[in-house]
Amino acid sequence: MTQKLLAHHTTARVGGPANAWIVAATEAQLTRAIAATDAGGTPLLVLSGGSNLLVSDAGFPGTVVQIATEGIEVLESTDTHVRVRIAAGHDWDSVVAWSVAQGLTGIEALSGIPGSTGATPVQNVGAYGADISQTLESIRVWDREVHKVVELAAADLEFGYRDSIIKRSIVSANTDVTHASPRWIVLSVDLKLAKSGQSAPVRYTQLARALNVELGDTAPLEHIRQTVLDLRASKGMVLNAADYDTWSTGSFFTNPIVPASVAATLPDHAPRFAHHEAGDTAETVKLSAAWLIDHAGFRKGFGLHNEPGTVDGRASLSTKHTLALTNRGNAKTQDLLRIATTVRDGVADTWGITLVPEPVLVGVQLGR
Ligand SMILES: Cc1cc2nc3c(=O)[nH]c(=O)nc-3n(C[C@H](O)[C@H](O)[C@H](O)COP(=O)(O)OP(=O)(O)OC[C@H]3O[C@@H](n4cnc5c(N)ncnc54)[C@H](O)[C@@H]3O)c2cc1C
Repeated sequence: MTQKLLAHHTTARVGGPANAWIVAATEAQLTRAIAATDAGGTPLLVLSGGSNLLVSDAGFPGTVVQIATEGIEVLESTDTHVRVRIAAGHDWDSVVAWSVAQGLTGIEALSGIPGSTGATPVQNVGAYGADISQTLESIRVWDREVHKVVELAAADLEFGYRDSIIKRSIVSANTDVTHASPRWIVLSVDLKLAKSGQSAPVRYTQLARALNVELGDTAPLEHIRQTVLDLRASKGMVLNAADYDTWSTGSFFTNPIVPASVAATLPDHAPRFAHHEAGDTAETVKLSAAWLIDHAGFRKGFGLHNEPGTVDGRASLSTKHTLALTNRGNAKTQDLLRIATTVRDGVADTWGITLVPEPVLVGVQLGR
C-alpha cells in the first residue's frame, strides 16, 4: 500500500507520509477511528481541510484521521432566526454560500476561508471584523479524555482572538510543542443565524470602504460576500491552485497582543487596535503583524531572490501579503520554517516583539 503524503492534503502542500490514514465519512466512523487510535496509544492527527497545518517533512509517526462528514441540517426556523447543525467535515465556504443564498445573516464576512466547519471553533476563525464566536451556539464533540460525545456551549469554549480551549489543548502555552490534535474533536457545529436578509453591521474599515458604506452600516448579503471574496483574492487569501501566493496556511503569524506600554514604543503610524478579552486585567493593544514584518524590512515576496536567511526561492512571503508564507512549487516544510524563523527573528530584533505562528506545527518548530 502506498503511504499518503501530508503534502497532498495540506494547502501549503508540504509534509511527509503518515504511518496510517483513515478517512471518516460518517460520525460513527470518526468516533470509532479516534477511540481505536487513542486506545492503541498511537499518536493521532485529526485533519480536515489541512489549511492550518504544517507537518514535518519526516511525516507523522501515527494515524491521520481525515474528517469527511457532510451535511447542513435546519434544527429550528422561527420568524426571526434559524438554528442549523453542520457536520464537522463540511466545507466552510459552502456553508457561507448556503447561508447567503438563504438570506441568513451572521457569517457572510467569513466568506472564502478555506477548510472545514468543524475547525472553525478551534481557533475562533475570523476575518473582516467577524468571527465564529458571534454566531456559534454550541458544538458536539468527542471528548478524548472521557471517551464519549458531549455538548459544549459557546461559553464553555472560552473564545478569544484566534483562540479557544480547543486550540489551547493542542498548543501548550508559550511553546511550539503540540499534541497534533486537541482533546475535543468537533463532530458538529450549531449556529444561530438571523433572518434579516441584510448583513450584520460592517465592523472593518477596509471592508466598509470597499462597500462604500460607513462602519456599523449593513449591506445586502451577496454584496458583502462578493466584496470579501474580491478583497481576499487580491491578497492571495482565496485558494487558487494556479497561484503560488495561495499555497500557504493563510496568515502565518497572529497579530500580537501586547501591553499598552509596549505599543507606545512603536512609531505613531504603526497600526494598533484596542483589544479586550474576558479576564484581561491590564490594558492591551492588538498590533498588525503584517506591518511589523514589512517595517522590519521583509517586503512582499521576501525570499524569491535568495536574500540571506531564505531558500533559493523555493519558499517566500506572498507577493500579495507579508503575512502569508508560501510554497513556490517545490518547497519542503523545512524551507517554510527557515523563512518563518528569519522573519520572526528580524521582527524581534527590530521591534522587540516575538511573533507567534498561527498554524498548528506538527513535529516541527521554528528555529531556536
Ligand atoms: C489561503 C488561506 C486563507 C486563510 N484565511 C483565514 C482567515 O481569514 N481567518 C482564519 O481564522 N483562518 C484562516 N485560514 C486558516 C484556516 O483556513 C482555518 O484555520 C481553518 O478553520 C482550518 O480548517 P481545516 O479544516 O483546514 O483544519 P486543518 O488544517 O485540517 O486542522 C487544523 C487544526 O485543527 C484541528 N482540527 C481540524 N478539524 C477539527 C475538528 N473537527 N475537531 C477538532 N480539531 C480539528 C486539527 O487537528 C489541526 O490541529 C486561512 C488559510 C488559508 C490557506
